[in-house]
Amino acid sequence: MAVYLDCAATSPLDPRVQKEVIKYLSVEFGNAGSRHHAFGQHAKKAVEKARSGVAAVVDATRGEIIFTSGATESNNLAILGLAAHGKQVRKTHIVSTQIEHRSVLEPLEMLSQQGFKVTLVRPDSGGQVQPQTVLEAVHDDTLLVSVMQVNNETGILQPIEEISRLLGKHSAYFHVDAAQGFGKEIGQLLSRRIDLISVSGHKIYAPKGVGALVMRRRNRQRPPLVPLMYGGGQELGLRPGTLPVHLIVGLGKAAELALEECDSRSKQCRKFKKMILEKLKPLNPIFNGDLNLMAPHMINLAFRGISSEEAIDALNGVVAISNGSACTSTFDSCSHVLSAMRLDEHQIDGALRLSWCHFTDRPDWAMFIEAIKKLGEEVKTTNEAPVNLR
Ligand code: PMP
Repeated sequence: MAVYLDCAATSPLDPRVQKEVIKYLSVEFGNAGSRHHAFGQHAKKAVEKARSGVAAVVDATRGEIIFTSGATESNNLAILGLAAHGKQVRKTHIVSTQIEHRSVLEPLEMLSQQGFKVTLVRPDSGGQVQPQTVLEAVHDDTLLVSVMQVNNETGILQPIEEISRLLGKHSAYFHVDAAQGFGKEIGQLLSRRIDLISVSGHKIYAPKGVGALVMRRRNRQRPPLVPLMYGGGQELGLRPGTLPVHLIVGLGKAAELALEECDSRSKQCRKFKKMILEKLKPLNPIFNGDLNLMAPHMINLAFRGISSEEAIDALNGVVAISNGSACTSTFDSCSHVLSAMRLDEHQIDGALRLSWCHFTDRPDWAMFIEAIKKLGEEVKTTNEAPVNLR
């Protein structure tokens, strides 16, 4: 059985989270909106406990958290939900980066079609955007600055604390897509200058289909978001619909555990990374991004002359990995992140993302190395084969 090295795509479910999810799916199945009986009251209490659990990770208050279906929805709500206010106060400029997830880039594209001006800052070749460059793009009419915490393809940590500091008293709202870093890189998200934080449950050992949006108050005022859907008024009217109590409880439990165990998990991940780097040394990997800036649980690399698809195929049964973002025949499907870093074509074509967590077993490194070496030999032989010129 292959060892799962794709935790950045989705993480395994923590058994302690699973236990809570099942309890609120079966025994405690009440609707958190049913105020008149114990079934509903228990559900409501569990939701509020989960809210506190999520809030604690970023030092926010319960009232600053709303539950969503995941980071995609949170990103959409943070960006599209702010647009009406922007139009009202005539602030229609947004600053973001070229390496954001599609769930940030596409809502931004939507707003640019509605007349907003969007500046996307380019990263350096190491995969990081420079805080000063972000700040230079911010003007008086900037409504929002949106920068991700950890890039989902390269694992590169973005300078969130520095951007928070530089933004200082500027009126622009600051949104951070923290899908890959929430509960892992705790310190970065504590700055009160960050107004909006997107969270995803299935990256922190909770189920898929649940997430949160942190909406910090500034001078007692919440960011002036309007909802994307209308209905029953749940979640401050910003995310109407019956709450999926079991999923929310799962996210809350996962957040609690992440906070408690963050140091030990991080240590384990660093140890695992050290092992990977040691084991793969004989294959001379090329790192896609600055190795020193990659989060402890992720790495993006390429093996000279080997495409990501060939490598993934050859490693089938040894490890389950991804190429970060499909880079196939058409340029459009090529990684926009690695392209923005202006990496060589062969690095982009060969990009492999390996991502792990504290649950990850040791892969069979000998088999891994053998598979890649064999592939390397095959590629070499094919390239050296005499060409029939006729
Ligand atoms: N942002 C980033 C950086 C991500 O990695 C992901 C998930 N791949 C998302 C947003 C979307 O998260 P979700 O699956 O919870 O919608």
